[in-house]
Amino acid sequence: MSSLRIIQKGFNYSQDGPGNRLVYHLQGCNLRCPWCANPEGLSLEGCVMQIKDPESGRVRKKRSFQEYSLEEICEEVMRSRMLFFEGGGVTFTGGEPTMQFEPLRELMERLKSREIHIAMENNGTHPRLMELLPLVDYLILDFKHPDAGVHKRVTGASNERTRENLEKILASGRGVALRIPLVHGFNDTPEALEGFLGFFHSNPMDKATLEILPYHEYGRDKWEQCGMEYLMKDGFVTEERVAEFEEAFRKAGIQVIHT
Ligand code: SF4
Repeated sequence: MSSLRIIQKGFNYSQDGPGNRLVYHLQGCNLRCPWCANPEGLSLEGCVMQIKDPESGRVRKKRSFQEYSLEEICEEVMRSRMLFFEGGGVTFTGGEPTMQFEPLRELMERLKSREIHIAMENNGTHPRLMELLPLVDYLILDFKHPDAGVHKRVTGASNERTRENLEKILASGRGVALRIPLVHGFNDTPEALEGFLGFFHSNPMDKATLEILPYHEYGRDKWEQCGMEYLMKDGFVTEERVAEFEEAFRKAGIQVIHT
């Protein structure tokens, strides 16, 4: 029986696709971004988190994921259908949802046949990403850095596949919601901005939107709960820098959005 490992799930309005959505965070990621907000989702095998109660100091252990059969998820989605207002539906994110490629595809096929609106956020690295796209109504793709070397040094893998997939997606004329996590010392440099603009100039961007997500530290405690060190030192970007990037993208004719 096919199943999916899920870190967390819950409703979210309009941030991960249109309308009110049931968002599933899937276990496993092939990258290792040091700012990751869901570090418990990195290993496909999961981890045991040690969570300290701030009042009693007592430590409880929690496995990072729960496994659900596709049937259970389908039933949950169909039960929730009345809540998918304003064009809502289901979103798969992570971790990196394509790490559980086969069961994810099977689930998407089942949901598609029931006319459920499907969104997926992913890092663009999966070699078979294009196979999933006919099943995805709203595609979110994280484009972290234009330079392959910097991308590899910081996230652990090159961005070549992301660029390749993104080029195909943009050339196909389908919509894509790009996201750039803007992180000081990683991609908030003039060189990175130039690299992003160079890529966007070389590809048809008329069906793409772009959103900048400034660095935050929401996941910091979870790194420690998973027994890992949080290595980010100073990732915060100023509002001025965010505005500067947004302005440069707007001037290049790109539709910049905020969700
Ligand atoms: S791609 Fe996303 S889930 Fe994977 S390590 Fe980076 S931030 Fe975390």
